[in-house]
Amino acid sequence: MIVRNSEVQTATSRELRLACTNDDCRAVLNGQLVLISTRVPSACPNPAIVFAAARGRAPHDDTPTPANDPGPLTPAATDMSG
Ligand SMILES: [Zn+2]
Repeated sequence: MIVRNSEVQTATSRELRLACTNDDCRAVLNGQLVLISTRVPSACPNPAIVFAAARGRAPHDDTPTPANDPGPLTPAATDMSG
């Protein structure tokens, strides 16, 4: 698929027209591009647009969340009394 054109819907979304790259197919589809959160805050923010921070991650932290353990990792308690 390639994006043939797009149209602004809101300050945080666009409607896309996509075309299949297979010449025999010729499918044309509508899609949507939506901004959902901030990874790195803007140096010149638009006060009209406020996103929630990306869930549970600091900027530039690309560590994936384990699929079987969505909670944060914490050090195991160790009994040092003997
Ligand atoms: Zn196709």
